[in-house]
Amino acid sequence: MPHVIDADRCTSCGACAEVCPEEAISEGTDSYVIDPEICTDCGTCVSECPVDAISQQ
Ligand code: SF4
Ligand code: SF4
Repeated sequence: MPHVIDADRCTSCGACAEVCPEEAISEGTDSYVIDPEICTDCGTCVSECPVDAISQQ
């Protein structure tokens, strides 16, 4: 199941993108976004987010 970023919680701090080993996370219009085609669901980004915006759907 893919990891997704809740745009309402994301503050666009960029911390998740820095730790993603696949470089699957990029800055979007209103929040950072995860490309589901690249994400391997490793889970590394989840604990990096200070506002708990990333979850596995
Ligand atoms: S779950 Fe892993 S591969 Fe997917 S976006 Fe997070 S850090 Fe990157
Ligand atoms: S770490 Fe959390 S708040 Fe920061 S850019 Fe990623 S999803 Fe948004």
